[in-house]
Amino acid sequence: MAEFLQARDERKILHVDLDAFYAQVEMRDNPALKTVPLIIGRDPDQHHGHGVVATANYLARQAGVHSAMGSIEAKRACPNAVFVAPDFDKYRQISAQIHAIFAEFTDVMEPVALDEAYLDVTANPLAATTLAAKLRHRIWQETKLTCSVGVSYNKVLAKLGSEHHKPNGVTVITPAVALDFVAALPIKEFRGVGKKAQEKFEKLGIQTGADLRAMSQDDLRVHFGSFGDQLYWQARATHFGQVKDHRVRQSLGKESTFEFPLHNREQVLATFKDLATKVVANMEKKHLVGRTLNIKVRDDDYQTQTRAVTQSVPFNLDPDFLARKAQSIFDDLYPDDFAIRLLGITFSNVSPQAFQPLSLFDFEND
Ligand SMILES: [Mg+2]
Repeated sequence: MAEFLQARDERKILHVDLDAFYAQVEMRDNPALKTVPLIIGRDPDQHHGHGVVATANYLARQAGVHSAMGSIEAKRACPNAVFVAPDFDKYRQISAQIHAIFAEFTDVMEPVALDEAYLDVTANPLAATTLAAKLRHRIWQETKLTCSVGVSYNKVLAKLGSEHHKPNGVTVITPAVALDFVAALPIKEFRGVGKKAQEKFEKLGIQTGADLRAMSQDDLRVHFGSFGDQLYWQARATHFGQVKDHRVRQSLGKESTFEFPLHNREQVLATFKDLATKVVANMEKKHLVGRTLNIKVRDDDYQTQTRAVTQSVPFNLDPDFLARKAQSIFDDLYPDDFAIRLLGITFSNVSPQAFQPLSLFDFEND
């Protein structure tokens, strides 16, 4: 059954992951950092012992430093490490550049971090391996950064592939080799297997994908509930998850039109407040944030004007704040008398909330 399903899965999926992204960016921008163990995070000596490791270069990793480690512990492990505070504005800008390159290859992409995404390139007529090579070349050309790419027919295998030859590697897992690849994997490499599951597997004497595949679906259900089903299919190199395109092509907005034109600013502000409240509710429902606020105004002569304000970080989703912002734009457009037929508020440059690392406590997924 599994082999049958696998043979039928003819998708082409890439998982792209920049190598030690934050550290690589800082080394690119300051080559002196290339030859020292580098930790992206606050130096504990300058911050009263506070701070955590966001990521580290490979020299620091060799000394035992890893993401999410306390800075003090990291310094103990690697006393000569250089600490550099993360610059998320810079990383976000580069991330936008990289995502623009992804868009050259496919319309179907699922970003999972600033530096990491799944791309479904099934619709692209070129071979997946050719696309992986071109993609890596384009990223290097544009950003002088390296990435690792996994190429396969489903997301789980593509992700396993990108992790397989890090840094700066490509791993292709074709249907012909997938079952062997999975059989050789240590159990902790399977998706969703954390400490608890690892302990269970240890007691059961299950160490590899081959051991896992030998377990019946019923046994897996007994021990792991519904997660057992996922493991059953993972052991058979089968995964049905689609690349979910989170990008929001259409912007998110609301408009109001008026049969009788508005003439006073209180009415305009009240309308903006109403529109902002609706837009915010919609954004929150969809777990989205936006960096560009667009205001649209049409007057009694059917002249339409739009203005956009873009920030480097997403707007605070506070209707009062947004309404006042809209109002100040409106006031600039219409300093004197006015007769308004339409008002609109729209967000663009929209992204999922989870895709916004804003603090030191956001770690890179390496
Ligand atoms: Mg990475």
